[in-house]
Amino acid sequence: MATIFTKIVNGEIPCYKIAENDRFFSFLDINPVSKGHTLVIPKMETDYLFDLGDVDLCELMVFAKSVARAIDKSLSPMRTGVLVDGREVPHAHVHLIPIYSGRQKTALGEKLEVSKEEMARLADQIGNAWEPPL
Ligand code: 5GP
Repeated sequence: MATIFTKIVNGEIPCYKIAENDRFFSFLDINPVSKGHTLVIPKMETDYLFDLGDVDLCELMVFAKSVARAIDKSLSPMRTGVLVDGREVPHAHVHLIPIYSGRQKTALGEKLEVSKEEMARLADQIGNAWEPPL
């Protein structure tokens, strides 16, 4: 059965999309821990990130870098943090978490309330700042 993230890639489940190419896809986390909390995934279904082949893993991270740059440019956090967990959704993914202050916690446990309108605006801001990796 397709993972929930594959259903998002296929448009069967809506998302706040940020960026896409033929192999990778990026969208806002529906339960953000910070404004602009973004997920980056390979379209290919693999549960565990470190089961990806070396080239796929490197290219996923390069794609994630391009999205992190777009977050930095559009939302101006202090920096964008990277987190990998994967216990909830069995489809490899990287969390990009904008960090706005030195005291901000980035653990996945503490979710933030963000309205649908603001989620849509954040996705637009990041997406408009995104430049595909070379
Ligand atoms: P992890 O598997 O790394 O522990 O967490 C999975 C992440 O995916 C969570 O932060 C959760 O909020 C997010 N997530 C789960 N289902 C959906 C969904 O249907 N849409 C979006 N945009 N994010 C989701």
